[in-house]
Amino acid sequence: MLFIIFVILTPIAVWLILHFVSRQKDAGEIQSKAPMEVCALCQNEFLMSELLEKEVGGYGRVYCFCGQCIENLYHEYQKQTSIETGE
Ligand SMILES: [Zn+2]
Repeated sequence: MLFIIFVILTPIAVWLILHFVSRQKDAGEIQSKAPMEVCALCQNEFLMSELLEKEVGGYGRVYCFCGQCIENLYHEYQKQTSIETGE
């Protein structure tokens, strides 16, 4: 009887331990593998979800731009065009 309990419980216990360890490992990998990229303009690191990817030039080179830099460019452009048109 004790042998039967041992035979049944041992694989369950091993499976539970492996399951728990692999889940911990997965969580750690997800955290460390969060895709980070450097903004082409300010050189700060951001999560990929916070960056805009744009193909620049004819070589298929992809650059990433952060929201703050895009906003700065927009304001800079607005300032320049308003000076040129005299508004
Ligand atoms: Zn930036």
